Amino acid sequence: MVFGFLTSRRRAGLRAQPVPPEWRQIAERNLAIFRRLSPADQEELLQHVQVFVAEKHFEGCGGLELTDEIRITIAAQACLLLLHRETDYYPRLRSILVYPSGYTAHGEHHVEGGIWEEAAEDRLGHTGQRLRALVLAWDSAKHGALDPTDGENLVLHEFAHQLDFEDASTNGTPVLESHAEYLAWGRVMNEEFEALRSAEDAGEPTLIDQYGTENPAEFFAVVTEAFFERPHALRRRHPALYERLASFYRQDPMRFVPIEQERERL
Ligand SMILES: [Zn+2]
Repeated sequence: MVFGFLTSRRRAGLRAQPVPPEWRQIAERNLAIFRRLSPADQEELLQHVQVFVAEKHFEGCGGLELTDEIRITIAAQACLLLLHRETDYYPRLRSILVYPSGYTAHGEHHVEGGIWEEAAEDRLGHTGQRLRALVLAWDSAKHGALDPTDGENLVLHEFAHQLDFEDASTNGTPVLESHAEYLAWGRVMNEEFEALRSAEDAGEPTLIDQYGTENPAEFFAVVTEAFFERPHALRRRHPALYERLASFYRQDPMRFVPIEQERERL
């Protein structure tokens, strides 16, 4: 990725500023994963948070008054996906809209063929390729950070979608480094996606959230959640998938999620 010289310099300046002590305290208190990162990774994460908070516009919705706790808890989870990688900080995203809790979205809803209907939909979070915004329910965003092993993490899910959007297509494939990586990614993700669909058809329980059968984009989002929250089980049951995600995220979450704390849902 190539960024402008000025952008690079501005971000380097933001990363070099001292991290406000309250921000670190919020990350330590609210992000179970943060406490288990190495000191170097904690530092890198907080430096990313400084850039993220400076560049993104946060907005409280539904009467929610924004606080540093809200901003930092969300930003730190989002930036976990950026660790160790060359990143452009979610370039398609401008605003993060935060509701106190689940909210109702009103909009056109695709039924089938050319048929659309007006529908109200209850949501905890949402983002879209052309939206430039990402919407979150604060209670779910906070709960996902506090409980790192239930296999669900709303913030990681929605920001995985943003990584998917970086190459301008919503297809469950983020920007990868080489032709060989794309080939391996396509092969493994297709196999795993089809396997999840077959399991769903057969009524079998799965480690991976079956919401991932919706399409490859949702599949990438739910396997990202599983990778960070159930790494031991994911590696045991889906080793090739784990390997692809570890290669892309340049992290091995098994190191920061102790196996005895990882809850099995199956
Ligand atoms: Zn999704």
